[in-house]
Amino acid sequence: MDKKRDVPIEIDDHFKLFGKEPWEVEYGEKCPLCDVRIDEYGFCSCGAGGN
Ligand SMILES: [Zn+2]
Repeated sequence: MDKKRDVPIEIDDHFKLFGKEPWEVEYGEKCPLCDVRIDEYGFCSCGAGGN
């Protein structure tokens, strides 16, 4: 089940940070502040993570 990479792994910050690709991360509810979905680690664009 290989998916084509849009960017080389060397510059894939998301992969380096989380150890998995963005499409492998499970997302939950949207953050009320930045309106970006909060991922399974509790991160969103503004960093509030709904807290
Ligand atoms: Zn946010």
